Amino acid sequence: MFEKRAETSIMRFSKALPNFLLGYISLHLVIAAIFLFVLTGWLRDQMLDQTRLRMQDVCYGLREHVRELPAGMNDPELLKHVQNLESRMQARFTIVDSEGQVLVDSRTGYKDIGNHGSRPEIIEARQKGFGFQQRTSETLGLPLLYLAIPLYERDESAPNDQNGFVRVAFEEKAVFETIRSVQKFLWIFTIGSGVLAAALMSLFAFREMRPLPRFAEAARNVAAGQYVMLPGLTHRDDEWKSLADAFAIMQAELRQRETRLRENSQRIEAVLGSMVEGVLAVDNQQRVLVANQAACEMLDAKPSELANNLLQKVVRIPELGHAIQHTLLTHSERQTEFETLSNPRRILEVRVAPMSEQREFGAAVVMHDVTDLRALENMRRDFVANVSHELKTPLASIKAYAETLRLGAIHDQDNNLDFVEQIEDQAVVLDRQIADLLLLSELESGKSTFDRTDVDLAEMFQKCRKRFLVEAERRDLRIEISIPEEGCIFETDRAALRSILDNLVSNAIRYAQPSGAVEITAVDDLEWVEITVTDHGVGISDENQERIFERFFRVDRARSRDLGGTGLGLAIVKHTVNALGGTVAVQSKLGQGTAFTVRLPQNSNLANLTPS
Ligand code: ADP
Repeated sequence: MFEKRAETSIMRFSKALPNFLLGYISLHLVIAAIFLFVLTGWLRDQMLDQTRLRMQDVCYGLREHVRELPAGMNDPELLKHVQNLESRMQARFTIVDSEGQVLVDSRTGYKDIGNHGSRPEIIEARQKGFGFQQRTSETLGLPLLYLAIPLYERDESAPNDQNGFVRVAFEEKAVFETIRSVQKFLWIFTIGSGVLAAALMSLFAFREMRPLPRFAEAARNVAAGQYVMLPGLTHRDDEWKSLADAFAIMQAELRQRETRLRENSQRIEAVLGSMVEGVLAVDNQQRVLVANQAACEMLDAKPSELANNLLQKVVRIPELGHAIQHTLLTHSERQTEFETLSNPRRILEVRVAPMSEQREFGAAVVMHDVTDLRALENMRRDFVANVSHELKTPLASIKAYAETLRLGAIHDQDNNLDFVEQIEDQAVVLDRQIADLLLLSELESGKSTFDRTDVDLAEMFQKCRKRFLVEAERRDLRIEISIPEEGCIFETDRAALRSILDNLVSNAIRYAQPSGAVEITAVDDLEWVEITVTDHGVGISDENQERIFERFFRVDRARSRDLGGTGLGLAIVKHTVNALGGTVAVQSKLGQGTAFTVRLPQNSNLANLTPS
């Protein structure tokens, strides 16, 4: 894997190399061309100077020779001499008379090749005593170098008609042959050296750049969160080694920072995760940046759905969206309360605060689940309303009877005692209601203390039967008791158990069909005691079974009141049983009867366990 990636990097490097070399060679050639241009210009000037001197020498020599000839310029020997010179020196020699007429030419002999008096070098020689020109020959059609001097100088005492011009011409090609050779050599040398240097350079670069892919690989590893040491560079003592050392320091630093960041974010996650409040953070588009577990549960959304998604797409609660939008627009806090769409519905109290992350604005949302609080508040409100209502009824009766007596009924010998008895009865109801309320509020406060002692159930049941005997007989009912043969003694609060039994048995007698039986049975095992009070009476419908343990709930309000009920008996039973660490359940069928089963722990150690 590593080798494969390293190869790719070398290949990438190899791909870049030709471009680099092409650039290098181009630069090399441009510099070489400029150098050669300057050099050949200089060489050309040098060659031209030297050739001119040589041509000058040759001209002076020829002039001396002509002067010494008996017939001067017209000597028949002159042609032979100039042809000789031409074959030796590869140059063309011309003798021109003062009128410009060619007398002898080493190339054309005595042939008339026209008047040369207007040739630039002859004109120059006539004017200045020396003429040098570089031009194409009209006679030969070749580029030549011409040098002409007069046969006699102006101050020399020679007859004017005997004066003329000696001219020598060198072929330019021959003169610059050397320059061309030098140029050729230099080009070959330059290109050769350039190619060689490029080859050596690429070899060297390739060798030197070999560790580069490893760095590329290491950088990729760092990006992927893997901090692997760079292998095979420790033995080196060059820049790569320093780079590798710097890389190692950078890796260590990055690793440390990453660990710190991870720890920080884990800490924040742990804090957010342990919060019962839901916490959300959104950006200015309402894209979710952070959402803790509680927030996900409250909004009934999965963490993966919320993360980095637009809140309004995942959670369709308009009140929440509006509150966040308001905060984003006004950069001010907003508080709201709404019901979720989940099942069961929850009531959330939400506080949205502006949050600025550098310049971008967002919002932080903190959500409290106030469902239970609101339910409690409602309950409290209902309770107060119910209590007032319940107390009002006997009070109104007392007031009415007292008023009737005051208005004259007190002298009505037949009825006045009845009225006073009614007042007494209502006072008893009021007293019972207040006593029940006080007991219930003590139980609900959780402050009631229990005095656990060994209680003999057989004895408890007998005493209970005795207490309700008159009431039962009035309705022609039997109270049947059934307990395990070996008896049942267990640790509990005697007064509390008595209150539970009294409530259940009094209900059973009240709601049973007359001329029947009310059964009180007990079964036990090692851990639990189960007491059941059964009657064969009106029964309770399924929907009402769920509500009979609520305070002031009665199936038939008027009947209950007539029978002396307060609507608090079963609520007291439930709270007392729970406080003793037990449970109470009801089984009933309309028109057939009802069985209430209380399950209590055998001793106080088990009382702390949640009953199964
Ligand atoms: P109450 O003082 O009215 O009896 P309870 O809290 O004891 O109040 O009972 C609540 C309601 O449950 C009663 O009003 C009655 O309608 C119903 N109920 C309780 N026990 C029985 C029973 N054994 N048979 C039928 N209904 C019952």
